[in-house]
Amino acid sequence: MTGIPVSALHGGAGTIRRDLMTPEKEAAYHAGLRAALEAGRKILLSGGTALDAVTATVIALEEDPQFNAGHGAVYTTDRTHEMDAAIMSGIDRACGAVAGICGPRNPILAARAVMETTDHVMLSGEGAKRFCRAAGLEHVDPAWFGTAERLAALDAEMARRASGTGDDGDEARKHGTVGAVACDVHGHIAAATSTGGMTAKMPGRVGDSPVFGAGTWADDRTCAISATGHGEFFIRMAVAHEIDARMRLAGQSLAEAAEAVVTEVGEIGGSGGLVAVDARGNVALPFNCRGMYRAWMDRSGEIHTAIFR
Ligand code: ASP
Repeated sequence: MTGIPVSALHGGAGTIRRDLMTPEKEAAYHAGLRAALEAGRKILLSGGTALDAVTATVIALEEDPQFNAGHGAVYTTDRTHEMDAAIMSGIDRACGAVAGICGPRNPILAARAVMETTDHVMLSGEGAKRFCRAAGLEHVDPAWFGTAERLAALDAEMARRASGTGDDGDEARKHGTVGAVACDVHGHIAAATSTGGMTAKMPGRVGDSPVFGAGTWADDRTCAISATGHGEFFIRMAVAHEIDARMRLAGQSLAEAAEAVVTEVGEIGGSGGLVAVDARGNVALPFNCRGMYRAWMDRSGEIHTAIFR
């Protein structure tokens, strides 16, 4: 089977406030989104695999401190970083994930190593740590992940909780996640997601990103999904698998299924969105909040970037 190469990525979603966005900041976000998309696009347009393309895109986003994954990951209430990442291939639903890790520079490479070199699907805790070392992944000091902005966001959130005042509505400051989906020239699809989780999360909390069928999914028969948003709700709705089920069992199109499920998760309180592709080269980028950092390559190979509606 031959496919039409397309791809999409997100860098988090939420109530992204226009009034807090300067033209310089906005331009920097667009540049970061474009560069990450380009990293995967090069691979897809030269005949590479969707799996390699989503890996390259997520690495680029993990390296960019504007986004909540890798360098720029948010803090737990203990002022530590606990990162989750997952990757999945649509060919055979091979997948790998890590939860709550801090050490490997690129958590997505740890997830890929779980997929490719173990009999397991998800590793966490001490065992994950040992595995990442043994796999020869590059490690960095925990301080490398943090930024002054993320620390300020933690302090603001802790102060808000202590004072009992309401939310300022700028959810985007508190969470985020990065993710990518792609369809390659061979007609295969893949998804990858990486996150620091949510600002001021409890140590040990795991979100939807590494949970297959919730924040990450890929099956050539239906769709590749990477989600971003309030993870607890995405897990409760099995968001990614729900889209798969609607396509497989109810014959819905990618766009129909993705839009309906993102609306439904919003109805139970789950703010967020997702990027999705199918093996026929369709792309969908629905979100139920004010904005989602996103970029995509359409069927003609052109790159688009967007933040707001
Ligand atoms: N879904 C992520 C989590 O709950 C956070 C986000 O995407 O904003 O960990």
